[in-house]
Amino acid sequence: MHNVLSKHNFSSLCAFATLREWLVVLISIVLVSCGGGDAENADYLDVDSLYLIPEPAFIEKRDGYFKISNDTYLNYSADLENEGSYLAKLIDSSSQFQIKKNLETKVVSSEIELKIVTDFPEELQNGEAYRLIISPEKLQITALTSTGIMRGIQTLRQLFVPAFHSNEKRESWYLPCLKIEDKPAFEHRGLLLDVCRHFFEKEVVLKYIDLLAFYKMNILHFHLTEDQGWRIQSDKYPMLNEISSYRTEKDGSVYGGYYTKEDLKEIVAYAKERHIIVIPEIELPGHAQAALAAYPEYSCNGRDIEVANDWGVFKEIYCAGNDSTFVFLENILLEVMEIFPSEYIHIGGDEAPKFRWEHCAKCQKRMLDEGLKDAHELQSYFITRIEKFLNEHGRKLIGWDEILEGGLSENATVQSWRGMDGGKLAAEQKHYVVMSPTSHCYLDYGLDNIDLKKIYSFNPIPENLAKEYHKYILGAECNMWTEHVPDEKDLDSKVFPRMIALAEVLWSGPDTARYEDFYTRLQKHYVILDFRNVQYGMEDVAFTLETYFEDEAYIKLNPGMRNLSFQYQWENTLNPTPYSDPILFNQSGQLEIFTFKNDKQLGEPQSFIMKNHKAMFSPVAYKNRWNDYYPAAGEFALVDGITGSLNFRDGNWQGFWGDNLEVTLDFGGKKSVSSITMHFLEYSNAWIMKPNQFQIYVSDDNQKFNPVELIKIIPVNSNVVDGVSVNPFILKFEKLETFFLKVVAVNYGKMPANHDAAGQDSWLFIDEIIVE
Ligand SMILES: [Zn+2]
Repeated sequence: MHNVLSKHNFSSLCAFATLREWLVVLISIVLVSCGGGDAENADYLDVDSLYLIPEPAFIEKRDGYFKISNDTYLNYSADLENEGSYLAKLIDSSSQFQIKKNLETKVVSSEIELKIVTDFPEELQNGEAYRLIISPEKLQITALTSTGIMRGIQTLRQLFVPAFHSNEKRESWYLPCLKIEDKPAFEHRGLLLDVCRHFFEKEVVLKYIDLLAFYKMNILHFHLTEDQGWRIQSDKYPMLNEISSYRTEKDGSVYGGYYTKEDLKEIVAYAKERHIIVIPEIELPGHAQAALAAYPEYSCNGRDIEVANDWGVFKEIYCAGNDSTFVFLENILLEVMEIFPSEYIHIGGDEAPKFRWEHCAKCQKRMLDEGLKDAHELQSYFITRIEKFLNEHGRKLIGWDEILEGGLSENATVQSWRGMDGGKLAAEQKHYVVMSPTSHCYLDYGLDNIDLKKIYSFNPIPENLAKEYHKYILGAECNMWTEHVPDEKDLDSKVFPRMIALAEVLWSGPDTARYEDFYTRLQKHYVILDFRNVQYGMEDVAFTLETYFEDEAYIKLNPGMRNLSFQYQWENTLNPTPYSDPILFNQSGQLEIFTFKNDKQLGEPQSFIMKNHKAMFSPVAYKNRWNDYYPAAGEFALVDGITGSLNFRDGNWQGFWGDNLEVTLDFGGKKSVSSITMHFLEYSNAWIMKPNQFQIYVSDDNQKFNPVELIKIIPVNSNVVDGVSVNPFILKFEKLETFFLKVVAVNYGKMPANHDAAGQDSWLFIDEIIVE
């Protein structure tokens, strides 16, 4: 819904009344033009080039502009003191004057008014709805509630030229005349921030809260407890801070920190000022290893454990058979509720392995006493008991979709992360639902998995959910897990610009047809993000690398974003070469690609190990087809000359689940072969294991295959980074000549007994079969 009722172009500077204004304008142009970018050079936004995100439900463009200067008065009633002061602070921070306030009786020629009303039409009956009318004499924001007023103020912020956000102090500001009526499509619009895997200072959290407000998000889901760290001060259980807040890393260093109650109160107040709700998450019964390191008496076996210094899912969870565990958790929740006024308290509930419960006499007794038939029902008992406690204190419980297992407690709200199905199921049982499926909402995933466009295509309403249940889908959150996000720069580059896409989907409603328009508006936000010290990342992978054969082998770059240019450099060459045509692929070695946008280099250069070898582009016949989640380049993936990185999702790894690799290479003529090198990825947390057995066969007719005796198999030692390694195996044999070569690498088999996924099929990941 984007209704343009009238169009008008401000075509010249004539709209300015006096010579003095003329001069201010000219000086401003000189001042800001050094920064570059068209939007900064303008004095006010043309009504046809607004960059509002999220897009308002209704906008009517009008003639003229409103000027904010020393002559402007800001009026609001006492019940809007918070919103009025907030707006005054915003204007003052970018102006040479302090705006005059609350002179209600005086008739003025330039007035900003904030006002609660009761007579909104049917379509604006929403607590967050607002109406913004800008005319040459008056700028007015009306709403049914103070929250609606705040949303209107955020729209107003985006109607200034981007330079407004630069702290440059001007004598006056201009805003285009228009009328906006607006309200959100979904009531729950959030960001989950994991401050446990990595800890972020209070200032970073405050920066994010203001950015959430700017994009009309309304929820900060604050993930405060984990296996790897406890981040909230407790008076009752001080060892949660002395012990649980710190972990000893593998290199012996100590990592950690926590927010004091003072910090948390400041965070909550800052959020409240912007009408953002902070929902704390206290994980139970799983993801509790840090807490149990300090208080092992609340685990099943009482044994001493350390705060986790690895990523994954751990067996150490709270004992469900011990009443003192519940006393402990309830005391913590009392402290949490004292700090956080949110209606919802998130209790996690995800990824709780039942191993300890199944081997605990107390847990077994509890199941017997309560008539629970399995550990899932015991989890349900656990959650229900906590929910009852929260309800008694006037709060509601929200938890991850695992809380559905064993029966969902009465009033619980479900956050669906393992796809949309859990959310759909809960909605059909008339439970409220927040969506954050891994397919669209996980900001820790790389751009190769979830790019800007993919997030923009997200619809929180499951496709096949009957209309009568749609009202149970409250909205969505994007989840920012921080295992691999050590600092603010990484955090910014993961969250931005992708979160902005979700913000528009949730406020304006899903509409993939609007993507191009969104993309155009987004381009004008980068200068604002720059001003606000957001070190944003990219919208999509910069490029993908492709090789092909046309008389000779070539390497081609496929850009993933618009307006990019590239340079490339082979190792052992002095300077990068600008990329225009495909690169001749006539050597092996490291190839570095540099990406530029508007002549500014984006990020670090990307390196690829390229292998030019004898089997390149030979037809490959598969006995077991690759798994469709990890196809890499399909039938030529193993002979395209591109090797994989430590990122198993980089698009160069071909995956086989539970199957052997068994392929036959057709050389199209007789070739002599003396060795085969294959790389296998190993990452046991993702169930990816390397093979240990290999067989090689040769054939002249593709019918009869003879085994080849291997002289040796050389496993090459590899670096292990965060549990991931690339493992080369070199198979050597007597030099032989053959038309066809069959390669078998035997799958590792079931995951071993000591693994959390013991007994499950394992993955085999390979990038290339290098024949020499
Ligand atoms: Zn137990």
